[in-house]
Amino acid sequence: MAPIEHLYLHIPFCPKLCPYCCFFVEEGSRNKNRAFLDALLAELDAHAALRPVRPKTVYLGGGTPTALLADQLEYLLSGLRERLPLDSLVEWTVEANPATVRPEKARLLKDAGVTRVSLGVQSWNDATLKTLGRVHSGAQARTTFDTLQKAGLPAVNIDLMFSVPGQTAGQWEADLNETIAIGSQHVSAYCLTYEEDTEYFRKLTGGQFRQDEELDARFFELTMDRLGEAGYRHYEISNHARAGFESAHNEACWEGREYLGLGPSAFSTLSGERVQNVCDTAEYTRRIQAGESAAATREALDEATLRKERIAFGLRREVGLERSTLAPWSGEVAHLEQIGLLEPVGDRVRLTRRGKMLADSVGEAFM
Ligand code: SF4
Repeated sequence: MAPIEHLYLHIPFCPKLCPYCCFFVEEGSRNKNRAFLDALLAELDAHAALRPVRPKTVYLGGGTPTALLADQLEYLLSGLRERLPLDSLVEWTVEANPATVRPEKARLLKDAGVTRVSLGVQSWNDATLKTLGRVHSGAQARTTFDTLQKAGLPAVNIDLMFSVPGQTAGQWEADLNETIAIGSQHVSAYCLTYEEDTEYFRKLTGGQFRQDEELDARFFELTMDRLGEAGYRHYEISNHARAGFESAHNEACWEGREYLGLGPSAFSTLSGERVQNVCDTAEYTRRIQAGESAAATREALDEATLRKERIAFGLRREVGLERSTLAPWSGEVAHLEQIGLLEPVGDRVRLTRRGKMLADSVGEAFM
């Protein structure tokens, strides 16, 4: 059986919950223990007993993997190294919050073979960080970026967020300029979204916050312009990279490749099925300890679902997608090309600059 080549681990702990976050995360240390780490490794063993795992990419996300104590992080990383053949590995990413990385942890990541840290900076501006409820300051993020560079991490991504309540276009441009100046090889820039069941969503529906599509578009244009002028390739609608620093793990997911997800709430896409693990850390640990499956939901992926996903991801990428995938919508494609929202690239089509600004509406044409 072909080996599983892409591996994700969900570490659900954060120093403090951000008011806009919709991921499965928890504050505090109640479940942040050795038993949880052993459960992650045992879940990997259980999968590897059924099908070999030979990763090209490993991604530790969450949550905040670096919220683990240094000895916990070391235990997990060495447990993974002991179990995984790493001869095919091209990228090992760990997400980090600037408040949770000191020189010791940075060295530990480097020594364990981590090749890429994705740093949740969000903004260099302290007022914006305060609005976002982040636990770190701009100065702390700068120090952490420096610490990671000094430790010799080969690549650092900077996560940024725009359209934050109260943020001006000038402040966003300053955030972009600082990111370019600091020398990050990869930038992920996301528009703030108001997800249900978050404090931010309640503030939006309560009238305390409001959305401004024109300002969102202005922020997005500034992002494309500033990062483009600085030499970053806009290879996915929210992602910009220096040549050779594109995220291999994310590209595999966007291409619809199989991946194994470990940990509470983690998704896997394997053998035509999408499985999500239980969204409860204590229950996840209990199930694995008892030799039970951590799966909470299973969905068979039929051709129609896979095609929709290929279109949704493909439209977001600079390489675009094959015309054959869009064959049932040839009329819509011709119309979108005519009005300048799609353009041909060989036997593929992709969004134009104006199309990127209207990506959601273009995507709806094929749903
Ligand atoms: S640090 Fe990230 S994962 Fe944790 S609560 Fe904030 S947004 Fe969510």
